[in-house]
Amino acid sequence: MDTTDCLVVGTGVIGLAVARELAASGREVVVLEAAGGIGSGTSSRNSEVIHAGIYYAAGSLMARLCVAGRALLYEFCRSRHVPHHRIGKLIVATSAEEAERLAAIKARAAANGVDDLELIDARRAHALEPELSATAALISPSTGIIDSHAYMLALRGEAESHGAAFAFHAAMLSAEAVQGGFVVTAGGAAPMRLRCRTLVNAAGLHAPALARAIAGLDERHVPQPYFAKGNYFACTARAPFSRLIYPVPVPGGLGVHLTLDLGGQAKFGPDVEWLNAASADDLDYAVDPGRAAQFYPAIRRYWPGLPDGALAPAYAGVRPKIVPPAVATQDFRIDGPDVHGLEGLVNLFGIESPGLTASLAIARHVAALAAA
Ligand SMILES: Cc1cc2nc3c(=O)[nH]c(=O)nc-3n(C[C@H](O)[C@H](O)[C@H](O)COP(=O)(O)OP(=O)(O)OC[C@H]3O[C@@H](n4cnc5c(N)ncnc54)[C@H](O)[C@@H]3O)c2cc1C
Repeated sequence: MDTTDCLVVGTGVIGLAVARELAASGREVVVLEAAGGIGSGTSSRNSEVIHAGIYYAAGSLMARLCVAGRALLYEFCRSRHVPHHRIGKLIVATSAEEAERLAAIKARAAANGVDDLELIDARRAHALEPELSATAALISPSTGIIDSHAYMLALRGEAESHGAAFAFHAAMLSAEAVQGGFVVTAGGAAPMRLRCRTLVNAAGLHAPALARAIAGLDERHVPQPYFAKGNYFACTARAPFSRLIYPVPVPGGLGVHLTLDLGGQAKFGPDVEWLNAASADDLDYAVDPGRAAQFYPAIRRYWPGLPDGALAPAYAGVRPKIVPPAVATQDFRIDGPDVHGLEGLVNLFGIESPGLTASLAIARHVAALAAA
């Protein structure tokens, strides 16, 4: 049986960032990926926004790792020439009641260390974005956008240059906790058994199912997965905005917002559609064109000029939830030996937004939990 020091499962942004971090610290790393290439899961189905860290509960992992990760990510993109743009965003109130909530959002952001938000009135918002309908707004200058594929390629390249080895079409099937580590069984093109000291479960939507397949891990340490789909519509009309435009958040999501990609193309979404799927293998990513009927009025609250027929179904991503719909918020759940008692095992659950932004900080956190 082959052996390695660290085995990382999954090559989304999280697995890639963890593999890079562990390899750069001098550890031997093998990465298993069920698909044929990197980043084919949620990491290819998101808004590609570098979040500032505004909304999360103070002291939560999301708050801390988003703010730390955002700084690391901007520096990574700058020094590795990963395309990105600190484009800024406006959080837009469209009623007096929403305007009152902006102060609370600003205070929460400040508690998270995001102290660059500025409250502006309707006149100033209109001067910045003439087609915007707003009673007041917050400007977030440190929000940005990123080419997530270029980012993932850079992570993989660095992991490999530090010696990490990648196996594709190699799904981890099960593992068993043994003295000093784990024996892992992988299927796919070249089935294998591999012994490792450290095992990092970064399987995204599949992470709870995979954790359940680790013999020796008490199942009370495995959360029940839930799946909340986020649908996007492309804007076929020219969108007259130069910043990201977000409404005041709604429970369970950030509201139907407008994001721009690096080519200036606008899209709207994601919305929140809870799925009834029993497992991550049963997810339907098709966008129902009928959902546009809910998008038009939501968007027209802040962009009354959105032309009829401008929305075209684009793509969808699915949030790896670990709380049911009735629970409004969840935090990242990164379980190390201090939680489950198995030396060398780190399970990453519920890594929804802002996982892309936080990825480099998450990787540091995981490396500390997996310290040899
Ligand atoms: C709709 C939506 C919008 C979002 N927008 C943003 C945003 O704008 N900004 C932001 O910061 N974050 C955003 N996020 C969050 C971000 O996309 C995720 O946090 C991040 O992509 C999660 O990466 P991951 O590596 O954990 O999962 P994934 O990218 O899903 O990767 C998991 C990988 O594991 C592999 N895998 C699964 N099971 C196995 C197995 N048994 N063996 C081997 N491999 C396996 C899968 O094939 C996959 O490649 C968004 C998320 C969603 C759903």
